[in-house]
Amino acid sequence: MPTTDMIRFENVKKIYTGQESKSADIVALHDVNLSIQKGEFVFVLGHSGAGKSTFLKLILREEKATEGRVFVNGRDLSKIRQREIPYLRRGLGVVFQDFRLIPSMTAYENVAFAMRVTNIPERQIRRRVPYVLSLVGLSGKAHSLPQELSGGEQQRVALARALVHSPPIVIADEPTGNIDPELSVEIMELLQAINSLGTTIVVVTHEHDLAARFKKRTITIDHGEVVDDGAGPYGREAVYL
Ligand code: ADP
Ligand code: MG
Repeated sequence: MPTTDMIRFENVKKIYTGQESKSADIVALHDVNLSIQKGEFVFVLGHSGAGKSTFLKLILREEKATEGRVFVNGRDLSKIRQREIPYLRRGLGVVFQDFRLIPSMTAYENVAFAMRVTNIPERQIRRRVPYVLSLVGLSGKAHSLPQELSGGEQQRVALARALVHSPPIVIADEPTGNIDPELSVEIMELLQAINSLGTTIVVVTHEHDLAARFKKRTITIDHGEVVDDGAGPYGREAVYL
């Protein structure tokens, strides 16, 4: 595969087996083929239940493909060892929908913690954390606890944390889901600025309007299948009209 592929799915199928619950098997993704290149800004669009979170979990190796192969940054995730998974995840900056901040830690500490768990020297942490907080416009809020921050600010702390290891790929899961509409413009602008510096950005969303507002490649998933992989909103509109 070319080295510019950051994410690549080859004939990927994901079935959740209902053994424990004795319920039927669920085909969450079916025959998914796609590749996302270095430096791209891509929306992954789909209704609730379409398979977006499954797509994300396969990339993070929280789930394994039932069939087919998933490559991230050149690595075949079906071949990756358990102990290599933390390294894989360090190359993926994820902003989770619910932010996943530690409530007892300040913005600074939340970001620093992500570096401490990887045994980065304190001297380096003291240099890096203020820098990433400044990138997301939070220099003045470094010592605030999550509960003292607005939703948009908490999300920017989560973005700063995602950026701390300079990952080649940043993934935002439903970035506009838990914040006010006016703040969603702000986070999208930040993601675009990060993209312009060369980072690959994947925005997972169920909001058609969000994807349509930015003229970016939009991969539409429906019932576990890629139904459209257009370069922008106009190609997709042609499908709907
Ligand atoms: P989305 O994020 O687009 O809402 P998901 O990837 O979460 O979609 O879900 C796709 C399908 O897989 C849905 O039918 C969902 O109910 C099912 N599903 C997701 N996770 C599991 C799981 N752990 N076990 C069983 N079924 C699941
Ligand atoms: Mg989901």
